[in-house]
Amino acid sequence: MIQETIFSKIIRREIYADILYQDELITAFRDISPQAPIHVLLVTNKLIPTINDVTDQDEKMLGRLFIVATKIAKQQNISDDGYRLIVNCNRHGGQEIKHLHMHLLGGRPLGTLVY
Ligand code: 5GP
Repeated sequence: MIQETIFSKIIRREIYADILYQDELITAFRDISPQAPIHVLLVTNKLIPTINDVTDQDEKMLGRLFIVATKIAKQQNISDDGYRLIVNCNRHGGQEIKHLHMHLLGGRPLGTLVY
């Protein structure tokens, strides 16, 4: 059975988060523990545990995820300097919350990723 996480409660506005955007597919809110001056989480309203679990039916939602990320980056004035979009998956990917989400990080140089 798929377990709800705290993100479902945020999406339903049962617990507080600083929500920047919400539509029928995506909710975006500031990370509680920001790793950069701008750190926003873009969460699928539908409870999908990881990026492994998406199907062909989720194509529109996944497209929306990227488009909303670019809009928020623009709103937050980080488009020109640049930013990073990250989706963590499972243990080796460092995913803590099993509800599909994308991190939008910016507002400072983020350095080179170590692979
Ligand atoms: P993950 O490691 O799963 O990719 O990222 C989960 C993120 O969710 C972390 O950056 C963490 O700080 C954030 N987070 C965890 N709990 C909460 C919460 O209750 N509210 C908000 N706004 N962010 C949270």
